[in-house]
Amino acid sequence: MTAEILCVGTELLLGDIVNTNAAYIARELARMGIDLYHQTVVGDNPERLKKALHDAFDRADLVITTGGMGPTFDDVTKETVAAYFGRKMVRNQEAMDRIATYYEKRGIELTPNTEKQADLPEDCTVFQNNQGTAPGLALEGKGKVVIMLPGPPREMIPMFDGAAVPYLLRYSGKTIVSSTIHFFGIGESLLESRMHEYMLAHDNPSVAPYAKDGEVQVRVTASAHTKEEADKMIEPVVAEICRDYGKYMYGVDVGTVQNALVQELRQKGLTVAVAEGGSGGNVVKRITEVPGSDTVFEMGVVTNTAKARAKLAGVGPKTIKKYGVYSEETAREMAEGIRRISGADIGIAVTGRTGLESDAEGKELGMTYIAVDSEAYRHVTKVDLAGNRSAQSEFVRYVASSSALWNGLKAAQKSGKENL
Ligand code: ATP
Ligand code: MG
Repeated sequence: MTAEILCVGTELLLGDIVNTNAAYIARELARMGIDLYHQTVVGDNPERLKKALHDAFDRADLVITTGGMGPTFDDVTKETVAAYFGRKMVRNQEAMDRIATYYEKRGIELTPNTEKQADLPEDCTVFQNNQGTAPGLALEGKGKVVIMLPGPPREMIPMFDGAAVPYLLRYSGKTIVSSTIHFFGIGESLLESRMHEYMLAHDNPSVAPYAKDGEVQVRVTASAHTKEEADKMIEPVVAEICRDYGKYMYGVDVGTVQNALVQELRQKGLTVAVAEGGSGGNVVKRITEVPGSDTVFEMGVVTNTAKARAKLAGVGPKTIKKYGVYSEETAREMAEGIRRISGADIGIAVTGRTGLESDAEGKELGMTYIAVDSEAYRHVTKVDLAGNRSAQSEFVRYVASSSALWNGLKAAQKSGKENL
């Protein structure tokens, strides 16, 4: 089967938004072994969309569209596709009910425009939208298949994973299972060069590293006739990689480092408190984003000045005078201090110049000290992104907070306290 991706949206053409949908779908198609030779972007223009759709179907058996499924007048993808297949538009009652509930909950009035989202080409497979209002769909005819997905990635991705992938796998009679191993603190190029061996050695399951905001994820994917069979194929490869790079690994299929931390804290019945200086509250933000974190998160303070570090995180004024605000000693005392003040099992601290300021040579920006303090584990580490080309303050703050979360996780892992 050959596929094409057709992304609809004038914003994409103008460069106002980046086509992340195409990148996501392309990668997933490759994983499923479906050939992809063309990707197209077309504006919200019915004539040009029609032409693009015809061109795509001249070349491919399967066309996956994203965008233009919403309620506004420029959302014309469904009508154009229905016309291509010679289908009428009919109202889908379940989609209509969902849309009505969605709007009612938010206190927004239903208009004929919003109702239009429930009008779908007849005889299609409907993909209900659990994140928004516009449903997606799959349609077959003329020996062709079209899959239509909404534009916003937060709606498109779950719908692609949850509905489009199972729909496509029906064709291959195969099932796909993957596991993601998460690494922190290992350079992408280092891991990638080492991963190359695995990548060459393994075809099914395949091994693919992805770099993401200072972290590296390695996805191991197997395709087989049953899930059990695929699971069995993945298992030894995941075990081998974890054994070889365990030092840098923080979890398998955990999603994020903050998820791994909260999970570990909950399992062990531990609590955590955070003192931040320079990371802008990122550590607390990321912990509190995790469902269930309310049972393990004691408190957090965001400090800027030396005075605030002394007053709110318990750093001795002499320490700051002697070693400076951005120092190992200050980081250590912040972690100890916040643990003492809060009564939490683990104290996590960040102190660094991750903000916009830097010295004349730009040296200080990106130099951050991270400390953790607990009964079983005390540690201070330096995250040095100074001089790094990508040392934009947001990136530095994010990586510093990842390191803090990772160190917190290590402290939790080393704690023997079990929640019985
Ligand atoms: P809506 O109901 O929001 O109108 P839609 O299916 O009609 O959804 P569009 O109107 O085309 O989708 O796009 C809505 C938003 O989704 C865009 O403003 C953009 O933020 C995002 N988006 C659309 N297409 C893409 C894409 N290919 N890659 C990344 N983001 C996209
Ligand atoms: Mg729209």
